[in-house]
Amino acid sequence: MAPSRPANRPQVKPGPPLPPKGATQASGASAGGPSRPANRQGSKPSAKSSSSPATPAPVARVAPRQRPLSSGPRRIATNLYSATGKRTIRELDAREMRVLLRVDFNVPLSDGKVVDDSRIRAAVPTIKALLEDGASIVIASHLGRPDGKVVDGLRLRPAAERLAHHLQMMVPTTGDALGVGTEDAVKRLRPGELVLLENVRFHAGEEKNDPAFAAKLASYADVFVNDGFGAAHRAHASTVGVAGILPSYVGLLMESEVEALSNLLDKPSRPFAAIVGGGKVSGKVAVLEALIQKVDLLILGGGVANTFLVASGRSVGKSLYESKMVEHARRILKLAAERGVKVLLPVDGVVAKEVTRGTEFKVVSTEKLPASWHMVDLGPDSITAMREALSSVKTILWNGPLGVFEIPAFGTATRELAKLAAEKAEAGATVVVGGGDSIAALQQLNLAGKMTHISTGGGASLEYLEGRDLPGLAVIPTAGSPFETMPILWEAPKPEKKPAPKPKAPAKKSE
Ligand code: ADP
Ligand code: MG
Repeated sequence: MAPSRPANRPQVKPGPPLPPKGATQASGASAGGPSRPANRQGSKPSAKSSSSPATPAPVARVAPRQRPLSSGPRRIATNLYSATGKRTIRELDAREMRVLLRVDFNVPLSDGKVVDDSRIRAAVPTIKALLEDGASIVIASHLGRPDGKVVDGLRLRPAAERLAHHLQMMVPTTGDALGVGTEDAVKRLRPGELVLLENVRFHAGEEKNDPAFAAKLASYADVFVNDGFGAAHRAHASTVGVAGILPSYVGLLMESEVEALSNLLDKPSRPFAAIVGGGKVSGKVAVLEALIQKVDLLILGGGVANTFLVASGRSVGKSLYESKMVEHARRILKLAAERGVKVLLPVDGVVAKEVTRGTEFKVVSTEKLPASWHMVDLGPDSITAMREALSSVKTILWNGPLGVFEIPAFGTATRELAKLAAEKAEAGATVVVGGGDSIAALQQLNLAGKMTHISTGGGASLEYLEGRDLPGLAVIPTAGSPFETMPILWEAPKPEKKPAPKPKAPAKKSE
């Protein structure tokens, strides 16, 4: 993807006076506020842009790509097309700019270590592109749900370590997204350097999209880039609020996510199959209703299938199912019948005495599921039926494991599907997988890399597939637009209107 950029970069305030030549990185705050050298002729051209055999020492900054002096201003991109329809960083001349970059580093942690760093790896292309362009980057992310309080277990340092590993450069973190120390660290950034702000959700203003909190974040930078697809369905300060203040762009991950998902919805090669599993139907009803309008085949598994079995008159014993969702499931089955969509429900299943390791289990037909057992996986006949039904499909969307795959004995169908999906992708089918647990299952088998696209956004990808606007994307100006988003588009928090305390009847003094 050759970056091509228009010259109509956003108007940026002229930078403050240049620091003395040779002023070096990170040592001591420069007195005069943001320091952005006007050119970096002095920086050594990096001879090894490709990987060298010896592990290179992590660097503090990235040498910008050399540009011929004669090249003048950036050429205007002739093709501003983006699957998102939004301004992307390909339209941004980030040289000497300070970029506030929203990413989604909401990664699973265990014992203070990142268990799966897919989301961090997915942010690397945008980070590299901006650094090589000569930007400095202030990265913002959330992690978990600290609910506006500092939670030590949800600090972003482990994510910074993974990012440092992938970038082969130092990734300093701040102890707080706000505060004098953070402002200072941001001011000291030079082109090619970055800093990761501490978890933005440690501040209640983040999830409330508080304008004051957004303004603080925005004050760190000249432009805003949103590459946090996994958080784009949230109208928070660091996803929506800042976009009403700074010239805004989407990053390369956001673009590729939207491209993969919109291709599925708009022009799938047919037959198109959706495979939906996982624990609960409630979180998936909306996406099922949307998908039923698009797909030719729907395969159901996991707890989701149990609710559909009940909707089609079967009893499921002690299996996980949602009685409140049975009516919804019936409606989806009716819609499928009207549209001629084939729905594959399990014909047999693995039932277990308990949903635990080492418990007794057996295979039974779903026509007569025993009352005191739990269905925890698809049975062999269902797996064969799935394999046959998928043999001719050209597009697969998979969300949700087909059984309680965390317990290996109940992960057969999920593993079989993972292998089948890899085979299909290798044979040229488009295979898109979304959902943290489904991706974890693929990773256990080392098959994630075989898929056409792995979505880093759980909730965001479901909402996108439902056809809903993602606020973090909606707020970015249209591709090629010279205009900025009006702050009025902020999803400002509703003021908490507490009823004025009723004047109490003066309490009688009890003396
Ligand atoms: P994803 O993260 O891929 O979107 P979900 O979060 O919707 O998937 O669902 C994953 C969970 O569903 C897993 O923890 C798995 O154990 C559970 N699950 C799958 N099948 C069943 C089942 N038959 N009974 C109970 N839980 C199930
Ligand atoms: Mg999940």
